[in-house]
Amino acid sequence: MGLIGPEEMAAAFDTLEKARTVVIATHIDPDGDAVGSALGLAGLLSKRGKEVAVYDRDPVPYNYKFLPGAETVSDRLPESCDLLCLLDCSSRERAGEKLAAWRGAAKSLCIDHHLTAATEADINLIYPEASATGELIYELALALDPDFGADVAVNLYTAILTDTGSFRYSNASPAAFAAAGDLVRRGVNPWDVTQQVYESHPLARIKLLALVLETLEISPSGQAASVTVTREMFAATGSNSEFTDGMINYPRSIAGVEVAFMVRETGDNEYKISFRSRGRVNVAELAAEYGGGGHHNAAGCRMRGTLAEINRRVFSLIEERLGSAS
Ligand code: 5GP
Ligand code: MN
Repeated sequence: MGLIGPEEMAAAFDTLEKARTVVIATHIDPDGDAVGSALGLAGLLSKRGKEVAVYDRDPVPYNYKFLPGAETVSDRLPESCDLLCLLDCSSRERAGEKLAAWRGAAKSLCIDHHLTAATEADINLIYPEASATGELIYELALALDPDFGADVAVNLYTAILTDTGSFRYSNASPAAFAAAGDLVRRGVNPWDVTQQVYESHPLARIKLLALVLETLEISPSGQAASVTVTREMFAATGSNSEFTDGMINYPRSIAGVEVAFMVRETGDNEYKISFRSRGRVNVAELAAEYGGGGHHNAAGCRMRGTLAEINRRVFSLIEERLGSAS
């Protein structure tokens, strides 16, 4: 009844069963779905006696450190392994240069739900209809270990919770709610997870938010809005990029705004752009034109140039699309 068809499920099951050593890798700047689905799968495979390493270029953000197994995530890769599982992204590039260059895995399995997914791996389980990669891991979990316990459950619940914006976005499907219900039955405490994920911010984050909100710009039509985060703001508040999670929701929350974006300075003339749409504009397509990707309503890419140039460019790209979308 799930999204993963019987043949794909059999192929994934067989591949996972045959592997003894597994590396699970996910994208840079990991979010709740990346961390939760990687640790959920790691928990399932460890229980089946496999030697599992969870790889991420970047550290686990502070609000996901409570997840069972979070302390095992590292930026080290073994010489070799039987299987590489790439989760919540579909190209090694998206997991950083080091993973892209690594040739240590005999086989690869990708599990992802992005609209712009590639099919680079030997086996690709790509379902854009899935609310989160965590929902796909949940389906796998039911096949691998139907009695999986609370540790795996809290990882998968957090993955689905965060990628659906706490079950508020259009991807909050009946399947997402059903999985969440079952995960709560298995021992997840929703209020505990809420507090860890959304209500444990360091003071520095709120100070950063105050600076970021001052940068708010809105287009003459009132349909596009942006905020900006610079390295100077990080330095002034003692924060870093992991503190910006969720800030893009402020410009989108303004009545009449169809598309919001956040520009974050990552280096000299190097910026990360995050997009959020209400639905009229497919921002995954927009981001893909600049080498990025994502979902219809949430996507990202990188751009080079000055802040003023990038702001101007992105506002006009959005206005163009708002003009042609009806
Ligand atoms: P965020 O704006 O929260 O970083 O990302 C929103 C969505 O777009 C997420 O699903 C994320 O995985 C995807 N995304 C963000 N940046 C990139 C990027 O540079 N490349 C690709 N392929 N996807 C991205
Ligand atoms: Mn995801």
